[in-house]
Amino acid sequence: MNKEALADLRDNPLFRQQCFVDGEWADADSGAVLQVDNPANREFIGQVPRMGQAEAQRAIEAANCSLPAWREQTAEARGAILYRWHQLMLAHQETLAAIMTLEQGKPLAESLGEIKYAASFFKWFAEESRRAYGRTIPAANSDQRIVVIKQPIGVAAAITPWNFPSSMITRKAGAALAAGCTMVVKPASATPFSALALAELAHQAGVPRGVFNVVTGSAREIAGEMTGNPLVRKVSFTGSTEVGSVLMREAASNVQKLSLELGGNAPFIVFEDADLDAAVEGAIAAKFRNTGQTCVCVNRFYVQDAVHDAFVEKLKKRIESMHLGDGFDPQSDVAPLINQEAVDKVLSHVDDAVGQGASLVSGGKPDTRGDNYVLPTLLTGVRQSMQIMREETFGPVVAVSRFATEAEAIDWANDTPFGLAAYFYSENVHRVWRVAEAIEAGMVGINAGLISNAAAPFGGVKSSGLGREGGVEGLEEYLETKYLLMG
Ligand code: NAP
Repeated sequence: MNKEALADLRDNPLFRQQCFVDGEWADADSGAVLQVDNPANREFIGQVPRMGQAEAQRAIEAANCSLPAWREQTAEARGAILYRWHQLMLAHQETLAAIMTLEQGKPLAESLGEIKYAASFFKWFAEESRRAYGRTIPAANSDQRIVVIKQPIGVAAAITPWNFPSSMITRKAGAALAAGCTMVVKPASATPFSALALAELAHQAGVPRGVFNVVTGSAREIAGEMTGNPLVRKVSFTGSTEVGSVLMREAASNVQKLSLELGGNAPFIVFEDADLDAAVEGAIAAKFRNTGQTCVCVNRFYVQDAVHDAFVEKLKKRIESMHLGDGFDPQSDVAPLINQEAVDKVLSHVDDAVGQGASLVSGGKPDTRGDNYVLPTLLTGVRQSMQIMREETFGPVVAVSRFATEAEAIDWANDTPFGLAAYFYSENVHRVWRVAEAIEAGMVGINAGLISNAAAPFGGVKSSGLGREGGVEGLEEYLETKYLLMG
């Protein structure tokens, strides 16, 4: 983005450099700020308040004050506001996408895709809020009646990551507000502007003051207040497993309800009976979205002996045809990584694999375009013991291992503490059912590389988290079940 376009974007009313608390735009009490840089060139793009415990507490109190009026509205009335928020996101999709690419780096077409995906949660939950059904249960005694009702949990807190700056917020806020909860969000410090733009649109959509608040700043202080304040009845976190387990310990003191959407280590299995062209396209989609920086990105490829060489050859051609560049360049399908730490991690995984005998087929090094650029990379001969197979690489590296039998592929796929997404390609219907049921993951793409959908429950098993977002299950996370016995 050139200097004039950047200046125009920064003048846009959706580009906010203050927090949104109790319906007002606010600075930190101390006046402290956090600077935000563009990952494509590491140049300064703006600043946001560096808020801490006191401001987080005020936001939680505002959410608590606005709770009674919000939860008493009908589901239809809440849904109408969410639906307006959805429409406003679509009306401003180009600005929202530009803000996202500027702070996060992903190709503009992917940012547009994320804005539509993010908006879809408001539409889905606007509709679903009317179906927060309870039930009646036949009672043991004829003079009694048993009724089960659903009620909003109360004030909810959300902590979100930088890789999906908009949709990780709407996936939580759509469900929370539809259920009748109010919310305080702490977005990632690398990507606060997408969150603040959502707050501006919430205001325009008619979300009442205090119902949706965004607080930027010190993660420890804000999250500490969220887990330590008894007014907060639900904490929803998306991010790394390390931070998720810290929050789980902290939330224990107030026995807060918790949702954790954590890291993954997704396997992608290509069986000898797969449609190889479809598998290659699925592999590209599932690996390179957001330059490999998604929790559901493939981390490990397992390809059966009989098709290994043909698959690798086709994939190599596809990878070498990819264009690495600034997210604002319409040619780019791979973009810069978020920061130096991400670059170092990706390159260290490649070095470790090559050092232990893997073959580097393409890429494997930084690109001269800028400090955060790494070439799309293909490694073969990768083994289960290598770092790249054990940890989330979060970058544009395809690591391929070959296998002989179905049992071996399933064993290797499940040989990880994580269990978020998994993918496999096979045209054999018997195998499809066997493998789908045997894989330890919350989500399985079968002959499909893109699995996210507002109507489906998103989430993981094992160290990948607790709870689900999206779908009927996503609403349930913000509801309490109350049983009434009438004598
Ligand atoms: P992260 O370092 O865990 O950060 C996520 C959020 O937690 C940010 O808002 C961060 O704030 C905050 N945070 C950091 N340290 C904290 C602490 N000690 N206490 C409380 N909050 C803290 O993760 P990330 O690097 O942003 O995101 C990448 C990770 O998220 C990957 O592991 C990825 O797989 C996972 N992810 C999972 C899903 C899913 O749905 N399962 C979706 C997307 C991403 P600051 O930014 O201010 O540090």
